[in-house]
Amino acid sequence: MTVPRRRGAGRVIMHSMARLDRRHTRLLAADAAGIADAAAILRDGGLVAFPTETVYGLGAHALDAQAVRAIFAAKQRPADDPLIVHVADSSALAQLGLHDPITQLLGGRFWPGPLTLVVRKRATVPREVTAGLETVGVRVPAHPVAQALLRAAQVPIAAPSANLFGRPSPTRAQHVLDDLQGRIDAVLDGGQTSVGVESTIVDVSCTPPRLLRPGGLAAEAIEAVLGVALVSRTPAGEGPQTSPGQLPVHYSPRTPLTLIAGPPGPARDRLVREVEASLAAGRRVGVLAVEEDLHLVPSAARLEVVGAWADAATVATRLFEAMRALDAANLDVLLARDVADPRAGLGRALADRLRRAARTVIEIEQIEQENFARG
Ligand code: AMP
Ligand code: MG
Repeated sequence: MTVPRRRGAGRVIMHSMARLDRRHTRLLAADAAGIADAAAILRDGGLVAFPTETVYGLGAHALDAQAVRAIFAAKQRPADDPLIVHVADSSALAQLGLHDPITQLLGGRFWPGPLTLVVRKRATVPREVTAGLETVGVRVPAHPVAQALLRAAQVPIAAPSANLFGRPSPTRAQHVLDDLQGRIDAVLDGGQTSVGVESTIVDVSCTPPRLLRPGGLAAEAIEAVLGVALVSRTPAGEGPQTSPGQLPVHYSPRTPLTLIAGPPGPARDRLVREVEASLAAGRRVGVLAVEEDLHLVPSAARLEVVGAWADAATVATRLFEAMRALDAANLDVLLARDVADPRAGLGRALADRLRRAARTVIEIEQIEQENFARG
């Protein structure tokens, strides 16, 4: 009997072959010499972290199975979590998988950019990349350093986020070093990434296309081009997961995070009460906050401000960095409410990442909402 290779809680498959070898990690400037060095390392089967517009990726030659296995070892990533392959332009998709009218439509409109398309794969793509699936995720990144690296390397680059498995995705070279120094060959330092959350993943190997992960490109923009609604995968934490690598709890800070979900007013009200209660109980409290809530949060709490509720783009650039900072601050509890409208645009990706990070989600009851509305 064949059992589908799906990762569930407590079931983690590791590559038995993928032993970690310690490496000296070079920090490379993102200039012509640094990019040439990085490209040579990749062609030789090495591991290089590089900036994309979403987050830093940990790259390896996508057609070199041994190099790809080294990614899993360096990250301690389960082997059944497929990787996204990065290429320089949409015409390069054809060497990896099916380039049909729908990929031409979406690639033509949104590439280069924060969109990953899952398509039927060609035999050239090693099974290590796709975790044994018959489909492959492909993306054309827009970041000029990623573009230059792909063109210099002249090979497709498989690259998951350049963090240790279970840590927040890196948005600066320093975050990569914090997690992977001594485990990879080089980091290309391209400064802070501009989008800050991972790509939107759409499976176009089925009809209608499915949204596998909300991300840096608004699903509404994709739907407008397709002229049909995307089918959503099961939301995090509800029912069986239908897509590999989409654990309901993914990045979970060592310090337990409680997320307060619900409409902005009541959620803010509840957040302040939870902070006050935790402080009163003698706990060290961290708050991941939007600007609007600053004046309400007791000053005894450690604050990380991610931006204004209405400015999801700025919030996205700071979310993972704020999580890293709070987790490093030696606190007892972390608290947050949604940092943008969870129902629309980039807010959907932010809500998704916060729910995966949260140990506990408090859903504000309808009754509490009504009380708030009455004053
Ligand atoms: P990341 O760790 O941000 O690079 O995300 C990679 C994610 O892309 C995986 O965890 C999967 O959820 C998704 N993915 C990649 N390839 C496929 C595929 N062939 N089918 C479904 N999901 C995929
Ligand atoms: Mg990742």
